[in-house]
Amino acid sequence: MNLVGIGYDVHRLVEGRPLVLGGVTIPHSHGLEGHSDADVLAHAIADAILGAIGERDIGHHFPNTDESIRGISSMEILRRTTSILSQRGARLVNIDSTLISEAPKIGPHLEEMRSHLSEALGLPSKRIGIKATTNEMMGFLGRREGIAAMAVVSVEVTES
Ligand code: MG
Repeated sequence: MNLVGIGYDVHRLVEGRPLVLGGVTIPHSHGLEGHSDADVLAHAIADAILGAIGERDIGHHFPNTDESIRGISSMEILRRTTSILSQRGARLVNIDSTLISEAPKIGPHLEEMRSHLSEALGLPSKRIGIKATTNEMMGFLGRREGIAAMAVVSVEVTES
């Protein structure tokens, strides 16, 4: 049986933080604020995976009140999320995602992002879609106050 899940996340852009997207540190004037490395793309994907198997969200599994995971790499969050998935007898089929960001340009980093996500998720790169769009300079995303990401995943479960 195939199941689907959806994920959305947004983080604020601030000075003095590295910008980590899809496990890649991208040179930029600002980075994303958060308890972990604030990798908004990885978080949207993790939420989509958890949603597909009816689990509670990433904030429940990786609470920002847990000091033991302060600064955690979101690739580790994805590894742990994939482990929850396999404990449920499920496996990833494919992922599609969209980053919404005015800057920096995502294109030059896409292949490296897919490669990092592929490693963390145990899923071939060709099953991982990452698109990027601007918000046409409208709203908080358009004013470069933050970066948002959306993701959809399909998973296959053996038991009903
Ligand atoms: Mg997040």
